[in-house]
Parts: sequence; C-alpha cells; structure tokens
Amino acid sequence: MTMTDFEVDVLASGSKGNSTLIRAGQTAILIDAGISCRRIVQGLKDCGLEPEDLSGVFLTHEHRDHIAGLDVFARHYSTVPIFANERTWAQLPVRRLLPRPQVRVIPRSCSMGNLRIEPFRIPHDAADPVGYEIFHGDEKCTYLTDCGIITKTVELAAEGAAVMVLEANHDEDMLRHGPYPPALQKRILGKEGHLSNRTAGQFLTSLAEPPAEVFLAHLSEKNNTPDIAYQTVRDVLRECPRTREIQLYVAQQQEMVSNVR
Ligand SMILES: [Zn+2]
Ligand SMILES: [Zn+2]
Repeated sequence: MTMTDFEVDVLASGSKGNSTLIRAGQTAILIDAGISCRRIVQGLKDCGLEPEDLSGVFLTHEHRDHIAGLDVFARHYSTVPIFANERTWAQLPVRRLLPRPQVRVIPRSCSMGNLRIEPFRIPHDAADPVGYEIFHGDEKCTYLTDCGIITKTVELAAEGAAVMVLEANHDEDMLRHGPYPPALQKRILGKEGHLSNRTAGQFLTSLAEPPAEVFLAHLSEKNNTPDIAYQTVRDVLRECPRTREIQLYVAQQQEMVSNVR
C-alpha cells in the first residue's frame, strides 16, 4: 500500500525510453513520451485511463528517449495539451504540426485540477532540461532524471518530497569497464550527464527530509542492472537513519512499475 496520495506508474524507464503517469485526486498527468504511442495508450489503459483523461503531457527535454512517441500521440489525441519550455519546443519539429492550443509553454507554476506543477532546471546536455515538482495538498512528488550533478536547485526540489522518481543511471565501475568509448563515458560521468547509483543514494541521504518512496529510474541498459541499482542504493541508504526505511522501487524498461498495485 502506498504511503502517499500520489499514485505513480512508471510506464517505462531506461536509456531506451521514458514515460511516467502521476496521479493524485482526480488529476492525471504524464511526464515524457519516450515510448511508442501504442505502449503509452496500453499503459494508460492498464491504469484504467484513456489518453483523453490526461490533463497534460509534460516534457523534460528533447532527447529521443523522452519524446519518441510524442509525435504520434499528440496528433492522435489532440485534446491533450503538451507542455514544454520554449527552448525545448524549438527542438521539436512536431510543434508545427499540432493545433496551437495543444502546444503549451510551461509557466513557472501551473495548476491542473488538484495538482500544481512546477518545473526546475537540471544540468544535462539538452536545450533547457527540467525536472518537475508536483504538488497535491501538502504533499509533493519530485521527478528527476537526466541530471549530471546535484545543484542547489535540484536539492531544493527534492527536499521534503513524499515520493520521488530519481535517476540511477549507471554503476560507475560497469561504466568504466563497459563497452562505451571513452568520450561517451566522459559525457555520462560529466556535469551534464547522468546520475550514478551511488550518487542517487548519497543524494537521498543528504536530504533533511528524504522521501518515503523512491523509484530508481532511467537505468542504463549497458552499464547497470536492476539488482545492482537496487543493492547499491540500498547499501548507501542503510548508513543513514533517515533513509533506512525508504520504500525503493526499480523502474523497468519493458514493464510498468507502480506504487499502487
Ligand atoms: Zn537526456
Ligand atoms: Zn534520457
């Protein structure tokens, strides 16, 4: 049973495609559309929703693993607004094909039914990448993937969240000894790359008010495994009394992971 008002269903997450359904009260939003439209629709159906039930799709950035299904989805379901910031939209050709009301520029804070959604800047090698804070009553859910380093902004966005979707992209040793060429390793480990399992764990222990539930997300297919991500983060969390009891989920590339079922 979930410990928060938020129902989080990670439809898919990993270096091959990301899409997450977040619900509280009667309101549902999708973060990213990086899997096929068919899989998004099936995932929503498995959660008892039709695409038209979404109050919006919120994009984090323009990399393919976050927008692969956007084009088809947006054109099939033209009543669902798509939110991205101006610089991210500029990278998305599909913008020109969509009816104007469907193309929304994310304001600093936006209310959708009983959710309030606020983007925050993250360091990553895209035009203007963001994470999201989603508020419901006095609870918060924080969505953070594709983040090179933990900045003050990122820290504030995570502080006090009840539930978090948090990148645990790679195991540092697997990455260093794996198949990726040195330049790509450097990019992933760099300030605008991705968070490692260990960094994700340490980040959680650094919070004064860590979340009760965490979905480890955006796992690399080549440089991580669900077991290694879980164990590495769990070992770090065990060292701190505030994080020992965190409920950990590991999001999957090929199947949905939820905190409600
Ligand atoms: Zn990215
Ligand atoms: Zn990504």
